[in-house]
Amino acid sequence: MVTSTSSVAGNNDVGWRFDNTYARLPDVFFALANPATVRAPRVSILNDRLADELGLHVGAMSPDAVAALFAGQHLPEGSRPIAQAYAGHQYGGFTMLGDGRAILLGEHRTPSGRLVDIQLKGAGRTAFSRGGDGCAVLGPMLREYVISEAMSAIGIPTTRSLAVVTTGEPVYRAAALRGAILTRVADSHIRVGTFEYLAARQNHADLRVLADYTIDRHYSELVDAPRKYLELLRAVSDRQASLIARWQLVGFIHGVMNTDNMAISGETIDYGPCAFMNAYRSDTVFSSIDRNGRYSYGNQPVIAQWNLARFAETLLPLLDSEQAKAIAAASEVLGEYPAVFERYRLAGMRKKLGLQTNESGDVELIRSLLDWMQDSRADFTNTFRDLSSKELPTGDRYGAPDFQAWYSRWQDRLGRDGLTNSSPYAVMQAVNPAVIPRNHRVEEALLAAEDHDDLSVLHRLLAALASPYEARAESAYYQEPPADDGSYRTFCGT
Ligand code: AMP
Ligand code: MG
Repeated sequence: MVTSTSSVAGNNDVGWRFDNTYARLPDVFFALANPATVRAPRVSILNDRLADELGLHVGAMSPDAVAALFAGQHLPEGSRPIAQAYAGHQYGGFTMLGDGRAILLGEHRTPSGRLVDIQLKGAGRTAFSRGGDGCAVLGPMLREYVISEAMSAIGIPTTRSLAVVTTGEPVYRAAALRGAILTRVADSHIRVGTFEYLAARQNHADLRVLADYTIDRHYSELVDAPRKYLELLRAVSDRQASLIARWQLVGFIHGVMNTDNMAISGETIDYGPCAFMNAYRSDTVFSSIDRNGRYSYGNQPVIAQWNLARFAETLLPLLDSEQAKAIAAASEVLGEYPAVFERYRLAGMRKKLGLQTNESGDVELIRSLLDWMQDSRADFTNTFRDLSSKELPTGDRYGAPDFQAWYSRWQDRLGRDGLTNSSPYAVMQAVNPAVIPRNHRVEEALLAAEDHDDLSVLHRLLAALASPYEARAESAYYQEPPADDGSYRTFCGT
């Protein structure tokens, strides 16, 4: 690999404030890596608003300088690029992995004091590339950009996308495609698989270093906690339960919930074959390789628990010197997960239905709505949005007697909430998105970008997705479900 040149004049003015906390961890945690030199970097899309939040003054830079920066050709002052080592259970099987096509430049301190990873995805080969070329292509990188930014606007914890640049290099897949690099911003890239990597090496000192680093960075309230590693397990489980509940509540299907794609910070990470569900079906799967539906919509909660069990196993040596006691303690925490998840889900569902008090019958009320949606192939997003307006929804489906029966039960239930002044509908409109990145709209935007170098379709989509809770006249186009997306397939991001 060709080493790129280091920082250039003017680079300081960008506003980077780099640290390299991860690169200061023991050597086994990473391999040094340098972004490959590329021929003709060009900005495809730049997230000005995020750049602002990060304190980066990219607006004042020339397009060429921005392209060179986000293609890794001009390294930010103070960065120390590395590829992170990790392992992972992929579809249940354990493998040693690592960043094969992503390079962490380091951590940037934002004006508000947050420390965020700045990572270039698709920046060339690393020590962990195995047979791969270390490259990424334009379509999938733009896809990650759109969906991660949509998730963020909806209010779901997620990695962010700062820029996509094309490299000017061909990348050979089934055909020659345009190489691209995504700049990803994350709380961190520590994965369940990072813990699995160190556990597999059976070096407890290194494992403890990672656990302490994780607590410092993401769970600092636990620094002095008694049994802090057990509390780490509990806290990570809690954030995952909350995250997966948020996914379920908007119909987001991650598509490849391998343990290497689960971030310990609780952010959604690694947007590959993900997609939003249109018609409600709990067994919905879009990923072309997920033949058994392991990562289907309805399985996401139990898969998260399975992944957390793998995480718990890595922590055993830190929990107790007696293995039986460690297992008992970890099992107890893992056993809490289903109830914690259900609490988050139920609280979210109550909000989606405008309910502000709790009744034991709510569980059944919610279930029967979902059953009706599944039987009548109702659109998940639009059903909740339709319910969010005061008027009784119209349309063939809503005229059916079983829906009408459900609707009057729900109205009675709302009546018992006794909210004479405040309207439940305002609450509902603030939690039920009108605009989600629907597969057919994402595809048409990517097609225009890939085939015609036309980013305008993508920009219009992004503008609608930026205010997901506003149903404006111009968003009607994005609210329309596809005629049929039963055959829609997504692919892993290579
Ligand atoms: P992903 O499907 O993106 O989560 O990647 C799974 C693993 O494969 C990670 O270790 C990646 O770094 C690696 N990988 C994916 N694509 C490539 C590629 N084109 N070259 C090298 N490694 C890759
Ligand atoms: Mg991954």
